[in-house]
Amino acid sequence: MRDVTYESHGVPLEEYQLTRKDHREQQSSEDAGRWAKKIIAEKKAEEAADPVLKAHRDEVARRAWKMITSRKTPDHELMRWRVRLYCGHIVETRRHAESARPTFAGASSMQCPECGKDPSYIVAFEPLGLLAEPPKPRKPAPAPTPRPPTRAQLERRLAELEAEVSELRRQAAASGSGDP
Ligand SMILES: [Zn+2]
Repeated sequence: MRDVTYESHGVPLEEYQLTRKDHREQQSSEDAGRWAKKIIAEKKAEEAADPVLKAHRDEVARRAWKMITSRKTPDHELMRWRVRLYCGHIVETRRHAESARPTFAGASSMQCPECGKDPSYIVAFEPLGLLAEPPKPRKPAPAPTPRPPTRAQLERRLAELEAEVSELRRQAAASGSGDP
């Protein structure tokens, strides 16, 4: 996983006065929510009128869901964030560890687990740490360092070499005597 510098925005635990931007963002989150509900309602109406279309969409959705859920994100790839929400509640949430802030990719608001406000815009956040320590990369076992041969081993090897040499001398002398 690449290195990520986690960002902070405000201090969630401190007193906080909602800014104009917060009100604006909350408004647009709510607008987006309403828009999504409207689209869903329209799709439902279409599907009610067209069972084949509904079956097709259900199948696509089922496959997409299977793809999303087939791989559970390991704990060490999840970052914990303390966030302050528009409604004033301070809660903890999780995002994929590759996100430098919790408000990436349409995640700038969430349902408040305290009061249920949905959506509730994230007005301040700070990283808390990964859900689990990343597994340590396995180090290859160090190659055994060859020990220097002992004196006894050296003497044995020397004796073997001497025996080889005298055997070669003997053979050379034997073949030399046969030649003219
Ligand atoms: Zn709340």
